[in-house]
Amino acid sequence: MSELSHKDWIGKASAIRFRDKAFIDGKAVPARSGRTFASINPATGETLAQVASGGEEDIDLAVAAARRSFEAGVWSRTSPGHRKEVLLRLAGLLRENLHELALLESLDMGKLVNDAVTIDVPGSAAIFQWYAEAIDKIYDEVAPTGEGDLVLVRREPLGVIGAVVPWNFPLDMATWKCAPALAAGNSVVLKPAEQSPFSALRLAELAMEAGLPAGVLNVVPGLGETAGQALGRHMDVDCLAFTGSTAVGKMFLQYSGQSNMKQVWLETGGKSPNLVFADCSNLDAAADMAAFGIFFNQGEVCSANSRLLVQREIKDALVEKLAERAAATQPGDPLDPASKMGAMVDANHAANVMRFIEAGKKSARLVTGGGQVSVNGRGSFVQPTIFDNVGHGDPLARDEIFGPVLSVIAFDDEDQAVRMANDSIYGLAASLWTDSLSRAHRIAGRLRAGTVSVNTVDALSPMTPFGGFKQSGFGRDLSLHSFDKYTALKTTWIKY
Ligand code: NAP
Ligand code: MG
Repeated sequence: MSELSHKDWIGKASAIRFRDKAFIDGKAVPARSGRTFASINPATGETLAQVASGGEEDIDLAVAAARRSFEAGVWSRTSPGHRKEVLLRLAGLLRENLHELALLESLDMGKLVNDAVTIDVPGSAAIFQWYAEAIDKIYDEVAPTGEGDLVLVRREPLGVIGAVVPWNFPLDMATWKCAPALAAGNSVVLKPAEQSPFSALRLAELAMEAGLPAGVLNVVPGLGETAGQALGRHMDVDCLAFTGSTAVGKMFLQYSGQSNMKQVWLETGGKSPNLVFADCSNLDAAADMAAFGIFFNQGEVCSANSRLLVQREIKDALVEKLAERAAATQPGDPLDPASKMGAMVDANHAANVMRFIEAGKKSARLVTGGGQVSVNGRGSFVQPTIFDNVGHGDPLARDEIFGPVLSVIAFDDEDQAVRMANDSIYGLAASLWTDSLSRAHRIAGRLRAGTVSVNTVDALSPMTPFGGFKQSGFGRDLSLHSFDKYTALKTTWIKY
C-alpha cells in the first residue's frame, strides 16, 4: 500500500498542476483552432481542466516536427548507447515523479491512486528501463553468402510512428508504444484518449528533461474522430500503433488503405476465458485471482477474465467464494488507499455497463452487485457484479463489457471447455486452473489466445509479448518482438 494517507493524497491533489496544452516540437501549445475539451474526474464529476483539442492542423504540425527531428538524425542516428542513457534517465524521472503521475492517472480516469502508485507508474518506469537496457544489446545479421560478397541485414528505425491509446492505463499504454519506438530511434506522435490526456502530456515533458530532443516525442490530445483520424490518415506517418476497441481498430485499417498504406498494429478488445477444472486443489487461490482478474481497475482491462468457465461439480463452491471476494471489493474514493475499487472512466461508460447488467438480470442469475452507486454522493461507480448460469450465447458471455461484471458458465468436460473458450471473436488472453501438468500443456496448446496463464491470471512482464489472436488484433507489445513493429530490415549487399 502507498505510504501516503487519504489526507495526504487529497492535499497533493489540491496542489496538482494539469498540463492542458498539446506538446509539439518541444513546446506546450494550444490547439490551432483554439478549441478545448473538458477533462473530468469521474469520481467527483468535477472538471479538472479544459484541454487543447487537437485537430488536423495540430496533427500536421506534430507530424512535421517528428519528421524533421527524424531526418535531422538528432535521435534516429544517435548511438544505441546514447539512447539507452536518455531513456534510463526518463525511467528515473518517472520514479522521481511517482506521486504526481499516480495522482494524474487517478484523478483523470478514476482508478485507485494506490494501484497507480504501486502498479501503473512503476510498471511504466520498468518498461522504459527494460527497452533502454535492451537497445545496445541487439546485434544485426550478416547473411551467409560466399566469398566476394558481404551482406548486412540491419534493423533501421521506421521513421514517424503514430500512437493512439485508450484511457484504462493511460501512462502504461503510452509507454508500451513509446518505449520501444523511441529506443529503436523513431520519432513519435502520440494521441492519448480524451478521458485521460494528463499523464501523456507530463511524460513528454519529462522525456525532454531526460534529454530527448525537441520533436522526437509529440503529444496531441484531442478527440478520436478528429485528432485520431487525422493521424490514421496522415500521408507522412510510417506506422500507426493502436490500442483500443476492435471497432476503432478496424477504422485504422481503412484509414491506412485510404491514405499511404502505413503499417498498422492493433491491440484491441477481449473477452478472456478463465477455465477452472475440478482437479484444481487450491480453490481459494483460484477465487482470489478470478476476482482480481475481473475487478482490478474496475474491470476496465482488455485482458480482464470476464468469462469464468467452471467444471460443474465445483461451480457452486467457487461462486460462493467469489461472492465473498466481491463483497470485499466495493467501490470507494480512489484517493483513499483503503478503497478497493475506483470509479468507471465516465458517466457514459458507467451507463453502458449498466445496460449490460440490467439485461443480464433478465437472462441470468444475479449473484451479487448489479447496481450503480455514488461515493460521498458523487461520481460514477459500479458494484462488483457476478452473474451465474449465463448462457453461452448471452451478450454477457460474448460482448466486451469493460466493467466489473463476471459471467459464470458451467462445463462438463475438457473438450466442451476448450470449445466454449475459443468460441469468441476475441483471442487476447486466457487462464486455466488445474493441478495436472499434462492438462495444463494440453489445454494451453489448444486455446486461441496471445497469453495463456496457468494457475494465475493475466501474467505479464516487459519480457513477454502481449497481444491477441483473431479480432483482438495483431502485432505484439512488450518484449524484444515489439521492435519488429518499429523497425524495417535493410539489406546492404557489398561486392568485394
Ligand atoms: P476506443 O474507443 O477504441 O479508443 C481508443 C483510442 O482511439 C482513443 O484515443 C480514441 O480517442 C481513439 N479513437 C476513437 N474513435 C476514433 C476514430 N474514429 N478514429 C481514430 N481514433 C479514434 O477504446 P477505449 O474505449 O478508449 O478503450 C477501451 C478499449 O481498449 C477496449 O476495447 C479494450 O479492450 C481496449 N484495450 C486493449 C488493450 C490491448 O492491449 N489489447 C489494452 C487496453 C485497452 P477518444 O478518446 O477521443 O475517443
Ligand atoms: Mg478524465
